Amino acid sequence: MTSRTVDVVVIGGGLAGLSAAYSAVKAGLRPLLLEERGRPGGLVCSGDIGGQSVDIGAESFATRSKEITDLAHELGLETVSPQGSSWIWTHQDGGRAVPIPHGIFGIPANIDDPVFAETLVQIAGSEAYERAKRDLTMGPSIGANCEDLASLVSMRMGQAVLDTFVTPFAGGIHAADPKNLAVDSVAPGLRAQLHKTGSLTAAVRAIRPQPTPVVAQTKGGMFRLPEALREAIIAGGGMVESRKRAIALTPGRHSLWKVWTKPTRSNPDPHLPPIEVGDRELIRTERVVLATPAPQSFSLLGACADAASLMGDATAFPADLAQEIFELLGDFTLPAGAPIAHVTLVLNAPQLDKSPRGSGMLVSPPSRTDRPRLRAKALTHYSSKWPDTIAGAPPHTHVLRISYGRPGEDLSDLTNENARAIALADAATMMGVNLDEANVIDHRLIHWDGSLVPQTPETREKAKRLEDLVKQTQGLRVTGAWVAGSGLAAVIPHGLGSVNA
Ligand SMILES: Cc1cc2nc3c(=O)[nH]c(=O)nc-3n(C[C@H](O)[C@H](O)[C@H](O)COP(=O)(O)OP(=O)(O)OC[C@H]3O[C@@H](n4cnc5c(N)ncnc54)[C@H](O)[C@@H]3O)c2cc1C
Repeated sequence: MTSRTVDVVVIGGGLAGLSAAYSAVKAGLRPLLLEERGRPGGLVCSGDIGGQSVDIGAESFATRSKEITDLAHELGLETVSPQGSSWIWTHQDGGRAVPIPHGIFGIPANIDDPVFAETLVQIAGSEAYERAKRDLTMGPSIGANCEDLASLVSMRMGQAVLDTFVTPFAGGIHAADPKNLAVDSVAPGLRAQLHKTGSLTAAVRAIRPQPTPVVAQTKGGMFRLPEALREAIIAGGGMVESRKRAIALTPGRHSLWKVWTKPTRSNPDPHLPPIEVGDRELIRTERVVLATPAPQSFSLLGACADAASLMGDATAFPADLAQEIFELLGDFTLPAGAPIAHVTLVLNAPQLDKSPRGSGMLVSPPSRTDRPRLRAKALTHYSSKWPDTIAGAPPHTHVLRISYGRPGEDLSDLTNENARAIALADAATMMGVNLDEANVIDHRLIHWDGSLVPQTPETREKAKRLEDLVKQTQGLRVTGAWVAGSGLAAVIPHGLGSVNA
């Protein structure tokens, strides 16, 4: 077994780990980043489909904080705003597309917005609109204690607003029911503004006064960001080692931490984790940043705490603290995320040149009386939303991403054999045009099951407690979506702050 000593070990090469390693380089350290897959980036990754390099994971970041834009510019990347607005598909009356009102997460910024009022009346009737208007007069205390998004919206504006506008957002963006989403995680500042302004619509307006875009992308694709971070880490003296899995972490008596690694090779099924090959290596270090998803973090941390609790207080991980962390982990069950599948279609389709549905659409869940004509939960007209991603492609080239998977839905029947035809038919219905096999240049089906764990109020609270306990060790820190909150706007700033926290 070989061994070496480095300044910092960052375990996990998603955007959390890359951000942590980049901030270590900026602090004058020489980090070693370990990534078990073939390249860093994690859920921000590209695929070559039909001759186009496109995002197949996360495609944008929320611009609510400036950190990602600043980071991108510092790395020499341009950032761009999305083109076109998006729609909601309702299954009612045989199905139709309706525009989305200006607001946050489907909650309108203005109760008199005709887009909101007319759509709500059409879908749920005038009583639903009258109920929504009560938000203006009920005072700020109603709903102020609601920690989940569903309770907050239904209490302030009624069930119909929740079902029509907010549930499609929750499903399309977080693959979750709004009752499983912590308001403070998915819409930071909203409850504080409700308290201040007196109504939910005014709170939305205070946070987002104009219908300006709330997301952006690094020009050419979101996947450019991990590529640029990797280059900057290496240029700054750090090391990025892909196909290297951290298999164990323990506190040491002389060097503070020991990380054991093993090389990996790709799994024949790319949806499954890579396979370990070759010999173990021991790495000694003063600092470790654990930036893996929750299951891997809990497993590495749990075994580490177990070992530390037997080693007494002569390590960087005192026995009492280790015992407390071990017990907290034993009681920490994460809710199962909804299954998610994306079908990317690359098309030659002049009938899409005018972008009939802008940047795309979110689909309302069907009610018991609806007879749905499609199964998708969202569609992104990726090449229309981000035209730079297909710069140089032949005329009439279009990239569509059709998303599947609602909480509780079984997607095991969506296979490489049938996904193309199902997605093509759904896309034609949603876009309101004819599309057939002759339009398809290529397609790719990806299952992302378990990748988006709902951020419930309970998991947020436990993750915060765990993070605070880990911070009491000397040199060990945790980061990543399970602790920072889902989405790049939460993950990247947390990762950047994790080395010196
Ligand atoms: C389909 C999909 C679309 C999304 N779209 C958006 C979007 O448009 N905008 C947005 O803001 N957010 C989006 N998100 C959420 C966002 O992608 C995540 O919150 C974020 O990328 C998580 O980053 P992370 O570093 O915490 O985790 P990950 O990206 O999961 O990275 C963790 C890394 O750790 C590695 N790893 C695991 N175990 C080990 C080990 N033992 N040793 C070494 N390496 C290990 C993994 O291989 C992985 O690369 C999306 C998520 C999904 C699933």
